[in-house]
Amino acid sequence: MSHILIAEDEDRIASFLEKGLRSHGFTITLAADAQQTLNLAESGSFDLLILDLGLPDRDGLEVLATLRGQGHSWPVIILSARDDLHDKVSGLECGADDYVTKPFRFEELLARVRVRLRPAPSSRSTGDSVLTVGDVQLDLGRRSVAVEGEWVELPGREFALVEALMRHPGQVLSRTQLLDQVWGYDYDPGSNVVDVYVGYLRKKLGADTIETVRGVGYRLKLQQLSAIG
Ligand code: CA
Repeated sequence: MSHILIAEDEDRIASFLEKGLRSHGFTITLAADAQQTLNLAESGSFDLLILDLGLPDRDGLEVLATLRGQGHSWPVIILSARDDLHDKVSGLECGADDYVTKPFRFEELLARVRVRLRPAPSSRSTGDSVLTVGDVQLDLGRRSVAVEGEWVELPGREFALVEALMRHPGQVLSRTQLLDQVWGYDYDPGSNVVDVYVGYLRKKLGADTIETVRGVGYRLKLQQLSAIG
């Protein structure tokens, strides 16, 4: 089970994250300031760090630079209220893998955490890397999808879109949720890109694979959920 270190001094946000991520099966350790984060990091037993920049004793970017300087290579997702481009760029230049702006949607953060924890294809065993919902299978390592056993390799966004739907079996995801999870921040909410991509996927995987729920969004077709495995 992945172990996540959360460096966040605001109790409300820290416990919101802790609760949400625990309910998705992650092990969580909280650090309330920079020093505590660095002390905990010495143990080296974490898989990912969620890092607030506005920590009371030192700036989060300094923490990040120190950790990278010490050779810690685990993924770091910055979570910050600083939302200008300059801050994002300096965060990424300091060695962060991703940057999420407060206020944030939990679902988006969760999707980003999962992306960062995804092992490299060479290091995963087949058993862990295939997600199965009904008769749809998703191979996370080879980034391909099969419906009734026919494998099709998919380009990045198409793959991520199928993955988002499969991570929420039976649940309708709105266009906004899908934009958040697949295209990330800074996407025009009025865009029809989700509909266009659903169209591509229906051509490749079969028209019945993804169901339109009028006025709400999309979900994997229910008849294929009868045998969730
Ligand atoms: Ca803070």
